[in-house]
Order: sequence, then structure tokens, then C-alpha cells
Amino acid sequence: MAQAIPRIGVIGGSGLYEIPGAKVMDRVTVDTPWGLPSDEITLTEISDQVVAFLPRHGRGHGILPTEVNSRANLCALKSLGVEQVVSFSAVGSLKEELAPLDFVVPTQIIDRTRSRPSTYFGEGIVGHVAFADPFCGRLSATFVEAIRQRQLPGGQTDETIVCMEGPLFSTRAESELYRSYGAGLINMSVLPEAKLAREAELCYALIAMVTDYDCWREGEDDVDIQSVLSNLSKNAEHARELLQDLITRLGGDERACGCGSACQFAIITAEDRRPPATVEKLRAVLPKYF
Ligand SMILES: [Zn+2]
Repeated sequence: MAQAIPRIGVIGGSGLYEIPGAKVMDRVTVDTPWGLPSDEITLTEISDQVVAFLPRHGRGHGILPTEVNSRANLCALKSLGVEQVVSFSAVGSLKEELAPLDFVVPTQIIDRTRSRPSTYFGEGIVGHVAFADPFCGRLSATFVEAIRQRQLPGGQTDETIVCMEGPLFSTRAESELYRSYGAGLINMSVLPEAKLAREAELCYALIAMVTDYDCWREGEDDVDIQSVLSNLSKNAEHARELLQDLITRLGGDERACGCGSACQFAIITAEDRRPPATVEKLRAVLPKYF
């Protein structure tokens, strides 16, 4: 029997706007104090679980990475009951050994975004949440197991992903700079999503689907949108296969990780100094504390 409440949320990136083959039970519009999410949230049944699916750029892909309302996206998923978020993203590779079509599960992030709201706090209430390990380790380990067991290309982990503002791809100098950091991957979407998921006490990890070698590689055509698109559709096919396994592995588990109490000691502002309107907003995403 399917559970009525979706405990698992899936955010689809470029090329992944729905989960074809999954039984659609409902489509819901969820309003939040931060506005509307990227699209309706589709409640689907996968491996006997109800899964909430949200396409990050909207169906039809009309939302730039900079324009994605990540605060609304994560808040909407949480308000439906989601505790764990499986995030898919198309990425560029900064290392020879991370090849197009590989599925990589990064463990670290370097923030190169510059014009995105990236916290639920502010407007009179201050919170500082630990983010040293930006992804849920338990979720990431499950992703790696599933990728390897399915024998999909990739399965690498312990990589750092650079998140750039975009929408243009990197210059050659930037690409070389990020390589000198030791980073393996680059995208435009993992932030602020990962930060907001942590503040919302959601488990969050990323499946990075490599589409190209950015522009650093000698002899490689610079990022050309044609081959990126073709790799996107192959990656989407693999993502659909992988999801069946992932949902089975994640389903129903009590969360044996610290994500569910990330804000326990994070909120600094004295209770009698918290503006009621901000308390009201934060209650939508952190009802435990407000
Ligand atoms: Zn977790």
C-alpha cells in the first residue's frame, strides 16, 4: 500500500521534467510565504511509495538558474511531508576521469553564485547552521550504492562541485581556475538549494549527471549545446531507471543522520525580540522551533 504522505521528494534538473512511467496520483499547487515553487508538484507512485516530484526549471524549462525560487521549492516539499530530497542536475566535468554520461555523487561545494537569496533567516531572526558537509552522507552513500548496483556509468564520489551563477558557461580562465581548486564538477543549480534544504532540516544529496567537459579540455569542442542536449536525454533515461531502485532503498527508513535536527542550536535571536511576521513565515519551514 502506498503511503498518503510523500516522505521523498525528487527535484529534476535540465532534461528531467517528469518521471515518465510513474503513476501520477495528483498534481498540487503549494503556496508558501516565499511565493510559488517552480511548478505544480506531482505526486507519483514509485515502488509502492508516494514521491513528490518538482521540475526545478518548470515544465517546458522557462526558469533560469538565477530565477529558481529555491526557498519556495524546498518549503513546498517540506510542507507536503517530504523529509529526504533526491536532487538531479546536469553538470560539466572539470576532470578527465569524470566523463560525459557519468553519474557522480559530490561531497563538497564551492559557491560562485552571487545574486540569489540563500537563507530562510533574516528580517529580524538570525540563524547560523552548520554546512561543513553540505550533503546528507547517508543519502549520498545510498545513491552511490544504487548507481553501482544498476551498473550505470559513473558512481564516483568524494568530488567537489563548483556552483556558478550562469546562465553563460565558464570562460576558459575560470574553468582552469576551478580545476586548480581541485574541483571535479560545475553546475548552476546546487546552490542555494543545498543550503536551504539544510536550514529546512531536510536530507539532501545530489546526483550530478555529466553532460560535457566544460571548456578546459584540449581537443574537445567547447561546451556545445547540441551534444549537451543529446547527453541530457540519455542521462534522463538513466535517471528514471535509477529512481526505482533509490525509492526502494530510501523508503520508510527512519532517518539515521543529523539532518533532522540541523537547526537545534542555530537560532540566535532572543525569543522576545523575534518579529511576529517573521516567526509566522519561518513556521512554514521550521514548525518545530516557531
Ligand atoms: Zn540526512
